[in-house]
Amino acid sequence: MRSHLTLGRLFGVPIGINLWVMAVAAVLAVSLAQISLPNIAPDHPRSAYWFAGVVGVAGFLASLVAHEVGHSWVAQRNNVRVREITLWLFGGVAKLEGDADDPGSEFRIALAGPAMSALCSLVLAGAAWGTWRVEGSEVLLGLLVWLSGINAVLAVSNLIPAFPLDGGRILRAVLWRRLGRKIRATRVSALWGQILAGVMAAASVWIMFNFALWSGMWILALSLFLFVAARAEWSGAAPAPELLELTVADLRRDLPAPLGPTGSVADAESRLSAHPGSPFVPLADRRNTITALVTRDGISRIPPAQRVLVPATSIAESLVTLPRVEPGETVRVVLDRLGEGRSWWALVTDGDGGLGALVSSDVDGLMEVVTG
Ligand SMILES: [Zn+2]
Repeated sequence: MRSHLTLGRLFGVPIGINLWVMAVAAVLAVSLAQISLPNIAPDHPRSAYWFAGVVGVAGFLASLVAHEVGHSWVAQRNNVRVREITLWLFGGVAKLEGDADDPGSEFRIALAGPAMSALCSLVLAGAAWGTWRVEGSEVLLGLLVWLSGINAVLAVSNLIPAFPLDGGRILRAVLWRRLGRKIRATRVSALWGQILAGVMAAASVWIMFNFALWSGMWILALSLFLFVAARAEWSGAAPAPELLELTVADLRRDLPAPLGPTGSVADAESRLSAHPGSPFVPLADRRNTITALVTRDGISRIPPAQRVLVPATSIAESLVTLPRVEPGETVRVVLDRLGEGRSWWALVTDGDGGLGALVSSDVDGLMEVVTG
């Protein structure tokens, strides 16, 4: 069974409405016409309340659509296609075809909805102020204030940094830019989403028993929905189990042959250019034990003309600080030990005395590519 009706198209995007929203809209119209408006503006004919109630609900649905049109408009400007906009129980959803390709677009698309709601709220507040100034209809004034408030609530509540709410998407975009990794950013913001949903659920129980039973129950339902959504995003962004079972041997990079104690910076440089994937050159002491390493960074600090004269030992870094891993260890074990999301190199000591390097970005990149 189709759970929603298509209302029409706006800028080429179909707008659908979930059947539950129709029920909520009916309840809302009744409560506006029977309770809210008569309280705000008493002593008006019933027909005026009913008319304003229906207009109010239409305005409410239009506010939801406006929020989603904000997202859709910016999405299309950032080359993300919008399949449809659907209104359902907890607001609207703009169904995008895929995600933004870069954190900047993601940030703009996510912010556009709350920005649109804030703009609507201001315009409606301005209209309310104008109505008040010309001493226009009290029912109309009450309606405009109510709609302005609804839009303000839409703007603010969507900015809660709980993925997949807009605020959570903004958080993900910021993390994505900082970490350079979308999947990890999704993991962190979806984890936050779950924590915030938990906090909201606890607060809703408190509200239920101390203030307003129905508002509390509504917030509880919303926080449960949020928790489930955040949980799904979180586990969807988890690295595939088979990747964690890959071994160090699968990911190791070859290192150049160790440089002797008399080698120059130029010697280290030529070994690195013969092994472009290697992050460093190992340095051996007189007993042929690997004790230090020379990095590309270290080499770049010596002016090219002097590299032949400067001994490699002068820019060597101690090996003691470098973690060591075995070729048979799995990615899971290595990540547990060295920490996920950090930047590190590890020395791979093969059984036969051979040397390799494991680079954190290889491990990260692998997970990002396959799960992203
Ligand atoms: Zn939104």
